[in-house]
Amino acid sequence: AKESGRGRYAFFDTRIDERNRRLVRIKQGLRQAEANGELSLVYQPEVDPNTGEVRMYEALMRWNSAELGSVSPAEFIAVAEETDMIVDLTRWLIGEVARDSHQEPLKHSKISINLSPRQFRSDSWQDRVRDAIQDGALDPTRLCIEVTESALVEDFALANEQLREIKQLGIEVAIDDFGTGYSSLAYLKRLPIDYLKIDRSFVADIHLDPDDRTIVETVIVMAHALGLKVVAEGAETEQQVAFLREQGCDLIQGYFYARPLTLAALVENMENS
Ligand code: C2E
Ligand code: CA
Ligand code: CA
Ligand code: CA
Repeated sequence: AKESGRGRYAFFDTRIDERNRRLVRIKQGLRQAEANGELSLVYQPEVDPNTGEVRMYEALMRWNSAELGSVSPAEFIAVAEETDMIVDLTRWLIGEVARDSHQEPLKHSKISINLSPRQFRSDSWQDRVRDAIQDGALDPTRLCIEVTESALVEDFALANEQLREIKQLGIEVAIDDFGTGYSSLAYLKRLPIDYLKIDRSFVADIHLDPDDRTIVETVIVMAHALGLKVVAEGAETEQQVAFLREQGCDLIQGYFYARPLTLAALVENMENS
């Protein structure tokens, strides 16, 4: 028993070592990623299900590391958030989005970007956005900021203040991953928001799970009653899209319509349709 006990510890140690080594490599690699041209953006359409028109594109970051290959944002954004690198990554992103916003097909739609919770502790992202607007590079009325529900709950006063400031510039605000962060209705009423994005986990099983259907229906009714628009994330099937459209969901984002694509791929898609 002693032997196997020791064996198990050794096994855990190796796993933890490997994990730590990877985190260190991600941290180091990420510092050089922008300079090495390893960062890029993809854009995923948010579609009006009644007309089929794209109203918004969500900008999503990609990192293709020379050393580690393609690292998923779930992994590298978490590391960037723990350090202050998320601030630099977002600064880079805002510059790219400003430039891309004048290109086909983005120039006909709004663009949404993701902000991490800890960014509310400094307002450098706001300065970057303001600079881009003043340069004429960015049209604030075509920009939407996505913030997760948990970010708001964590630091309500700070988030509320900063969101109010950017709203005054004409920028819209969306609550991301709605339904997963335990925010209360009172928050929704007090925050300056325009969109609720229903988390993918509620959309995935709407054809199987009556509870999920009820949640989605209720969120849509409540959001509309509060004057908010609703975006559903992660719709992959025709059935899901049909249900969401019947419930009056304003915008739908998901593989059913398109995966996140590079600008070049978006243009190619348009030419083929
Ligand atoms: P998110 O903001 O909730 O973004 C939506 C994620 O769902 C994206 O994953 C997208 O590719 C994926 N998705 C969209 N439709 C479908 C679908 O129909 N089925 C499935 N299975 N997935 C779908 P992605 O690009 O891997 O990003 C993961 C997360 O990383 C994002 O979740 C966001 O939290 C974070 N992230 C990505 N880019 C940025 C960024 O520039 N800044 C910050 N702060 N976070 C980012
Ligand atoms: Ca998002
Ligand atoms: Ca989301
Ligand atoms: Ca999500």
